[in-house]
Amino acid sequence: MSVDKAFREMVRNEIEAQLKPLRDLVSRLEAGTADLDRLRTVAEQLAPLAGAVGPLFGVAAGSRGAAAAPVRRGPGRPARAASAPAPVSGGKKRGRKPAAEGGSRECAIRGCGKPSRTKGYCAAHYQKLRMLEKTNRRPTNWVDYAESNSVEDIKLPRGRAAAKALAEAKNAG
Ligand SMILES: [Zn+2]
Repeated sequence: MSVDKAFREMVRNEIEAQLKPLRDLVSRLEAGTADLDRLRTVAEQLAPLAGAVGPLFGVAAGSRGAAAAPVRRGPGRPARAASAPAPVSGGKKRGRKPAAEGGSRECAIRGCGKPSRTKGYCAAHYQKLRMLEKTNRRPTNWVDYAESNSVEDIKLPRGRAAAKALAEAKNAG
């Protein structure tokens, strides 16, 4: 019995010691000298400890200072988990179709020769395709996943002619 009591006392003192930084922080917070982020960090570190050990000795988590457990967490869950970096997974590659059979293919635009990157077009020609589409001028033969070297490039008008072409395309759409 007395051993049990001594053990409880010891653990309680240990918890007390662990919670002291938090308590100090709370009083500094009340005095307006600490920032909330730091409080949150300390509280997150201490909450699992108090939550896991407290119930074993009849101490409800938070009863010894309500600020001790503002973050609810399952008992026994390691505090480390919260700060662990997100797993780096080999996730999806963005917007790319896997290379066709037999490795890389060339841009759909005739004579371009650059490797195709998106929907059969090289980076530059895909940009151009998007721009033409946006301005309602996409040529019908500029199809997605067109054959390599199969599509005739178009020369865009410049200067005043460009403005005129844009306006015409807009009216047409
Ligand atoms: Zn190209």
